[in-house]
Amino acid sequence: MTATRILVLNSGSSSVKYQLLDMRDSSRLAVGLVERIGEETSRIKHTPLAGGGESRELNGPIADHEAALKAVAAELAADGLGLDSPELAAVGHRVVHGGKSFTSPTVIDEKVLAEIERLVPVAPLHNPANITGIKVARGLRPDLPQVAVFDTAFHTTMPEYAARYAIDVATADEHRVRRYGFHGTSHAYVSRETAKLLGKAPEDVNVIVLHLGNGASASAVKGGVCVDTSMGLTPLEGLVMGTRSGDLDPAVIFHLSRVAGMSIDEIDTLLNKKSGLVGLCGDNDMREITRRMGEGDERARLAFDIYIHRLKKYIGAYYAVLGRVDAVAFTAGVGENAALVRQAAVAGLEELGLALDAERNAVRGEEPRLISANYARVAVAVVPTDEELEIATQAYALVSA
Ligand code: AMP
Repeated sequence: MTATRILVLNSGSSSVKYQLLDMRDSSRLAVGLVERIGEETSRIKHTPLAGGGESRELNGPIADHEAALKAVAAELAADGLGLDSPELAAVGHRVVHGGKSFTSPTVIDEKVLAEIERLVPVAPLHNPANITGIKVARGLRPDLPQVAVFDTAFHTTMPEYAARYAIDVATADEHRVRRYGFHGTSHAYVSRETAKLLGKAPEDVNVIVLHLGNGASASAVKGGVCVDTSMGLTPLEGLVMGTRSGDLDPAVIFHLSRVAGMSIDEIDTLLNKKSGLVGLCGDNDMREITRRMGEGDERARLAFDIYIHRLKKYIGAYYAVLGRVDAVAFTAGVGENAALVRQAAVAGLEELGLALDAERNAVRGEEPRLISANYARVAVAVVPTDEELEIATQAYALVSA
């Protein structure tokens, strides 16, 4: 029997998201989520998709990631999809930070694990959870290839002038301070799917990808290769996000420290968790913000305008970086669903060849689709992202090669 299944694991600090896929047809056999790991109120939601089974929910304390993955294994086994199956080809792990060294998906051995650990100082929130997920999965099936798919990998092609901050080179190099970028799996997938939608090869198109979820980033993809992206050393840089500020004058931090007496940790929390849309208007959900705007709420309107203004600036910047743009692609929770955001982001850019067809923009759907006006020089597309499928595809390509 050939092994064609990939288990994709996305391990966060208190959660594990998982999907089991069959790579013969990229179908999903099961999907699920373990939440609030380490709390009394942990929850596992498991949905078997192969036999059209019903979702199951289990509530009760799950102490740690090991217990969480064992619970996932038990749920899969109950559907005849256990981790002991010879059909399982590999586990694909989302790893947030791969630094400069990991430019492609990598089979995890001790050396690779040590390097991911070495990167913890630049990804203190994410890499430790990813490492735990890898170790626990390896414990459950030591014989199975564990593949790391890095959020940063797609951006390692950025030219040095885009990746470097204009600070002292020796200090930057000693502490590995540079722009890495994130959401790379999504940018890779969406830029490729956009080319497909245009009926062209990725090598032949230049795309601006706007990944607008709770976290948000833009990227400039030239002929299938990333040449710039808006997130930097950490996911804090760039666009206005659900709870992150995105770009600001770094001196804001000195000011808050010196004048407001805030500690570095307090400022970190302020900029990562209490800023962006939630800081501006108290809500980070774009549905709620547009609803409030409809009621004439000024704070929600200002938050929306700041969000759009930043987004427009990045579209303009990446237009200049690319020189020629074939398509702008919207993806992730906001990009796929918020027609008002797409309309506002593109409004006034007719001179750049960008114009929407209002009816197409209003249509909801699961499939990649064009929303630009027929006369527009640049295609505007909505391309639903699928990071799990991309992780599974990359992991499977590696182990089946
Ligand atoms: P993601 O991080 O990609 O899961 O995106 C989550 C975000 O997408 C939420 O915080 C919402 O702001 C946004 N979102 C989800 N559904 C909709 C919708 N129907 N309309 C507008 N925004 C949405």
